[in-house]
Formats: sequence, structure tokens, C-alpha cells
Amino acid sequence: MKYDNNNIFAKILRSEIPCKKIYEDDFVLSFYDINPQKKIHALVIPKGKYVDLDDFSEKASPDEMVGLLKGISFVAKKLGISVDTGKGYRALANISEHGGQEVPHLHFHLFGGEKVGKMVE
Ligand code: 5GP
Repeated sequence: MKYDNNNIFAKILRSEIPCKKIYEDDFVLSFYDINPQKKIHALVIPKGKYVDLDDFSEKASPDEMVGLLKGISFVAKKLGISVDTGKGYRALANISEHGGQEVPHLHFHLFGGEKVGKMVE
């Protein structure tokens, strides 16, 4: 799938749409989900233009890959939901149609602050 420069997260990355920012560095931007599904529901997205995890795995540089993983852990610590700072969390990436992905820019959901519940419905 070709990357759509007009997807909502691309607009957030370009600051055309506001977000409640949690963290930003050279590789990732993290912000709160507009429609939280749990007490804490954050999103972590790479700054590069990747549609989904498969696209990212195929094309991202090693630095971008490390940056995304470290970004996820850093945000979890910052939000007080990591193993170090809290009671744990769920990181989840939806991929394409059967995965239920709505926004075609790779993103990880971080759910926490309470028991997250069953893994799938
Ligand atoms: P997906 O279903 O693609 O894995 O998740 C997309 C997520 O993006 C949803 O949880 C949805 O609530 C969130 N979302 C959609 N539009 C916006 C927006 O404009 N701002 C923020 N912060 N989150 C959004």
C-alpha cells in the first residue's frame, strides 16, 4: 500500500492538527488517543512515512527500528505504566484490514493504568 500523505497522523506530524503530546524525539512522536479505550491510552508513531509494521520492517533503517522500540518503552515509563514505574501495559499494532487498522501510518497503542483485559474479543 502506498503511503497517504494526508492521513491524520501525517497531519499531526506536520502540526496541521493538534495533539496532546506525551513525548517526541528524532524517531518518534507520542500523544494521547483521541478516543481512549482504557484509563491510559497513548499512541507512539514513527516519524518516517510507514503504512504499517510490515512496511516498517521492510524499509526502516536499524536506527529507526531501535528508535521506535526505545520510544515505546520510554513513553511507558513516562506514563507510569512500565514494569519499572507501574504495573505493566499492552502495546498493540493493528495491521491492515483484518487487523482493524484505521489510520494508515504505523502506530502502537499503549494501554494501561488498569487491567487491560482479554487479548482479543
Ligand atoms: P487503529 O484502528 O488505526 O489501530 O487506531 C487508530 C487510532 O487513532 C484510534 O484509536 C483513534 O481513536 C485514533 N485517532 C483517530 N484520529 C485521531 C486524532 O485526530 N487524534 C488522536 N489523538 N487520535 C486519533
